Amino acid sequence: MGTVFFQRQVSLASLVITLVASDNSSAAQTGRSSASSSAPITVVIDAGHGGHDRGGIPGQSVAEKEMTLDVAQRLRNVLAASGYRVVMTRDSDVFVPLGTRVAIANSYGNAIFVCIHFNATKRAGASGIETYFYSRDSLPLASAIHYFVTGGAPSANRGVRRRGYYVLRRTSVPAVLVECGFLTNPTEAAYAQSASYRQKLAEEIAAGVRGRNSVGSAMSTTRVATSETIPLQPYMDQTKVTSSKHSKSKRSHKKSARKKKSSSKPAGSEARSGSTDREG
Ligand SMILES: [Zn+2]
Repeated sequence: MGTVFFQRQVSLASLVITLVASDNSSAAQTGRSSASSSAPITVVIDAGHGGHDRGGIPGQSVAEKEMTLDVAQRLRNVLAASGYRVVMTRDSDVFVPLGTRVAIANSYGNAIFVCIHFNATKRAGASGIETYFYSRDSLPLASAIHYFVTGGAPSANRGVRRRGYYVLRRTSVPAVLVECGFLTNPTEAAYAQSASYRQKLAEEIAAGVRGRNSVGSAMSTTRVATSETIPLQPYMDQTKVTSSKHSKSKRSHKKSARKKKSSSKPAGSEARSGSTDREG
């Protein structure tokens, strides 16, 4: 308990630092070099699942935990080569609890958190790329990553979505979760199993990380990015969507059970079934 309290204090402190730092970076937005020289950012890369948690849905042939780790490691290499300080929440096939993943991200004041996942659902036809965020601070990062990944991948664009996933809600730094396609879709599973495609995903995610400070401040109808501006993406707010017991904390699960939503199929039902793995 004492540790939890301490962590909360630390994350509040880092939140303040983040606010101060983002002031600096917007002031220095035109002078690209000054932002990087003042306080180097740490990119915390979170490869979804691992160890006994294989990810995906039961009976899925391609193990999500292997694909996420490989993309995460490639992303680390790309970002490290561009001079970023990178931290991995896991770098091998081990199980890391969600709370630990969040604590790692929150232990860096000036950081961003990028979670790598692949989607899964019983409907084999479901396909496409989704990018999730929760805090408003995270929308520019989500927009930039989604812009590049959907631009570079042949998969459908399933949009940016706001959702209260544990790893997004509990992080005190900008946090994004990318669903890099459906491993239950034969075409996307075939892509994912190609090393060159995973490298491409890593490079596009890295482009989003690099471009996060160049996202326009208002929703733009144009999809054309100039060299300076990446359009802020419109998003679906799915924070009211009821999730399975695995995808939310016990507390919010109880809350949603109390509301007892009549099961109107939400827009992101694929995402929801895909998400059952994400936090378990
Ligand atoms: Zn996952």
